[in-house]
This record gives sequence, structure tokens and C-alpha cells, in this order.
Amino acid sequence: MISSLRGFRDILPPESDRFARIEAAAREVFGLYGYRELRIPTLELKELFVKSTGDTTDIVEKEMYAFTDGGGREIANRPEGTPGVVRAYIEHNLGQTGRNAKFFYIGSMFRAERPQAGRFREFEQIGTEHIGNPTPAADAENISMLVRLLEKTGAEGCSVELNSLGCSECRKAYRGVLLAFLRERTEKLCDPCRGRLERNPLRALDCKTDAPWLKTEAPKLPLCPACLEHFDGVQRLLGAAGITYNVNPGLVRGLDYYTRTVFEVRSAALGSQDAVAGGGRYDDLVRSMGGPAAPAVGWAMGVDRLVMLLGDKLAPDKAPKAFVIALAKEAGDKAFELLTRMRDAQISADFSDFTLSLKSQLRSADKSGASFALLIGEDELKAGTVAVKPLRGNGEQFTIPAADAPSKIKEQLKGRVD
Ligand code: ATP
Ligand code: MG
Repeated sequence: MISSLRGFRDILPPESDRFARIEAAAREVFGLYGYRELRIPTLELKELFVKSTGDTTDIVEKEMYAFTDGGGREIANRPEGTPGVVRAYIEHNLGQTGRNAKFFYIGSMFRAERPQAGRFREFEQIGTEHIGNPTPAADAENISMLVRLLEKTGAEGCSVELNSLGCSECRKAYRGVLLAFLRERTEKLCDPCRGRLERNPLRALDCKTDAPWLKTEAPKLPLCPACLEHFDGVQRLLGAAGITYNVNPGLVRGLDYYTRTVFEVRSAALGSQDAVAGGGRYDDLVRSMGGPAAPAVGWAMGVDRLVMLLGDKLAPDKAPKAFVIALAKEAGDKAFELLTRMRDAQISADFSDFTLSLKSQLRSADKSGASFALLIGEDELKAGTVAVKPLRGNGEQFTIPAADAPSKIKEQLKGRVD
């Protein structure tokens, strides 16, 4: 017996229905905002993630599923979607089409993290990217679209945390100030932060060990006038869209490419893995990957976590409306034909095995949660009828002409909630 890998899981019904519901809601919302789907590959050259996500990030340094393929190429399973979208944007000149470069993706991401509640090694993200728009309206559109999507799925009690990390100029100045501060306190830093101090001092601000004390003690990042104006603009437009948010100066996201706006949606109901979605602006990434100067903003939502948050609320287990039972040897063909006609009439219908006993087929009918069992025995076969047995409530069994079965059952189903 071979079981699944640790941290990888099967998503069974009805949970799988919940994933599908969220994906459908996302597609609907994205349509309203003009975002179109980009289907990017699962595997990319490892170098893509090293260069974009950043070689000192947790995702790339510790969590990537990377391997050398038969041709000696270093390949990685994508740990996140943005690098692939940016690569595709550059590779296909998507900035030259004259259309808005607004994209969404839906798919699995892979990270070799310690499995725990809300943390899997393969998980699903729904994400968006808007490339080529430097204005606060793009940030505000992205964030408000995310909030609308969460509202549409029925998620409640989520908070939007918002911050600005400044542009590369603000960061350059700040890097020196922070580095000087940290160099004087290296003995207080954890080993990984000390190890990458000179390469990437800013990462310490997002380190699980050091961030808590740095948040209160480290010098704060001052924004240049242009970044301040951008941040004000984002907040003004979020206000106009009716979005509530908290400005959180402690929010730094663990990826290298963010500039200016960063945000995260959290839900206290999720416990320690409380981030449902995160994102931000990345004005320098496209150019640094060899593309044109194309400022951009996007986010990614963890679908597994949203499913955990919503549970049953999202998609109750769906039962068929009718369950067809054949009681005589010769009735099987008629029963199969009845199933077909029911489904063609948009009535969900199921069956078990027409050669089993009445008792056994009825047990399956009950288990399925169907509203009605439709029985064809010897008498029904001769008379061209179907016996209808209500499975919920205390209605009596009755008989209908087989030819009218779909319309009669539709009538019966009207106004029923089960
Ligand atoms: P965290 O702080 O929880 O590790 P992150 O900053 O690594 O999150 P992002 O890279 O921003 O996460 O990914 C966006 C979203 O994807 C997260 O907010 C979360 O909902 C989801 N996510 C990230 N890692 C996992 C995982 N291992 N399993 C399930 N969902 C995940
Ligand atoms: Mg993480």
C-alpha cells in the first residue's frame, strides 16, 4: 500500500466542491475588473525564482522543490506565481498588445515547509498581477478586488493590513541606516539573519525570530515625498471604494521584489497561520528580469486557508434529487433510460447496481441523500409507470406514467429545500 507524500494531500468531496466554488467566484469577480487568465507552467528554470523572489528569501533558500533534470538543467516546481507571470509578460511582449496587462492565475504552488494546520507542501493559490500601471489606482483596484472576492465567498472578519516599503531610493538610504543599527547588535540576531546581514539586512524585519524586537527597536523607514504621495493616494482610493484597512508599519513581506505598497489579508479565526492573502507593488521586477520598465502590483490568495475558514458555509454536500432503482431483471434497461431522461431534463439523478436487492438499493438511495427514489419493478415495467417513493418527510409512495417522470418530479421538487 503506497500512501501520499507528507504535506501532500488528496482533496476529497465535499471539500473539493469548496475549492471549485471559490475558483468560480474568483473568475466572476476577475471578469468584472478586466483581469484575464494566464496559465503558466508548473516547472520553470530554478534561476527564475532565485532572481525574482530572491536568493535570501525563505521561499527560495529553504522551501523550493528543485532538481536537476535529465538534460542537466536546474528546474524548480513553482513556489509562487509572480515570477512565471513576469517571465511570460516579457517573453510574449504582453506590454505591446495595447490592452491592459491584467492577469490572474489559479493553480498549485509547492514549498517544502514543515506541514501543519494551514501549511501544506502543495497548496493552491489564486493570484492577480497588473503590469504597467504605476498609479495608486492599480494598487487600490487590486486590493478592493481581493476584498470583494472574499466578501463574495462569504468570508467574514478579515482585516486588511497595509504598509509602504518605499521605492528603491528610499530603501537604498534606509538599508545603510538599518545595516549600521544591526551591525552594532549582531549578537542579538539569529544565525540566518547574521549570515545574510551584509547581503540583505532588510530580511531581518520579516524574520520570525528577530522581527518582534526589531519592530519596536529598529529605526523606521522614511518615505520620500513621491512614495508618501503614492501611499496617500492608495489610502484615499481605498476609502472611496469603501474598504476598511489598518496601516501597519510592522508589515514587511518576505519577498525581495516589493516596492511601495504591501498588504496582507488576515483572519484571526485561522489561528497561527492567519494570512489568507498577501501582495504588493513590484515596480522594478520586470526590468530587473530583462523586460521593459513596467511597474506592477499583484497578490496571491491561499485557497486552502480560505476553504478552512469557510468550511460548510461555502458548499453544503450536494445530494442527487432522484435515485433510480430497478427491481426486476428486465427493468434495468428502462431504469437506465429513465436516468438519462432525468439528467437531460436537468434533474440530478443517481443509481447503485440494478442487480442488487430492493433493500440494498434503497439503502444506497437513503445514503445518497436523494429526495425521491424512482422504482421500476415488474408491475411498473408492464404498465409503463414509475413508482415514486419520497425519501424525506413522510409522504406516501405514488405512481406516475414513465413518460412524464421528469416533469412530474420537477413539480414535486418545486418549493422543496432538500
Ligand atoms: P506565511 O507567512 O503564512 O508563510 P507567506 O508570506 O509565505 O505566508 P505568500 O508567499 O504571501 O505567503 O503566499 C500567499 C498566500 O498563500 C498566504 O497568505 C497563504 O494564504 C498561502 N500560503 C502560503 N504558504 C502556504 C502553505 N505552505 N500552505 C498553504 N497555504 C499557503
Ligand atoms: Mg511562508
